[in-house]
Amino acid sequence: MVRNKYAVVVIDMLEDFVYGALKNDRAKRIIPNIAKLLEFARAKDWLVVYANDAHLPGDPEEKVWGTHALAGSPGAQVIKELDPKQGDIVLGKRTYSAFYETGLDLLLRQHEIKTVILVGQHTHICVRHTSADAFAKNYTVVVLEDCVESFSDKDHREGLSYLKMCYGATTTTVKKLLK
Ligand code: ZN
Repeated sequence: MVRNKYAVVVIDMLEDFVYGALKNDRAKRIIPNIAKLLEFARAKDWLVVYANDAHLPGDPEEKVWGTHALAGSPGAQVIKELDPKQGDIVLGKRTYSAFYETGLDLLLRQHEIKTVILVGQHTHICVRHTSADAFAKNYTVVVLEDCVESFSDKDHREGLSYLKMCYGATTTTVKKLLK
């Protein structure tokens, strides 16, 4: 089954990333915006993919961030406000990029998707690494400014600038997209 040409990739909107080990109050502002986007995307039959940290003990990131989002733990669950629905795809990842050893590229090619719409956390880390791989694999990268967040406004702003400068990312907002 070939979906429409767009995929929304929801990155790390997990219990540990909003409320737990890597708690980020700034993430709360993007939850309703992502919810609106997902409702729209599902109605349009766009592919919705969750790229979720699902770490194993000893993963390289533990050295930098400490233990978080261990596979199968409550902290690795998608926050209930953004629960995956039937037809969505949920992929686990063990490093920053949603493409790294996750099968995401094959999935997107199966659905003949050319454009990825990236949302979630963090603008300057996992969204950035995912954008890098999307760019290298020749996808068009769209990032919704009101659906991504970082630990600080500076990290968020600089993250967005980098995506535009380095990967030719289009940045827009969910409000504009849904018009
Ligand atoms: Zn991680």
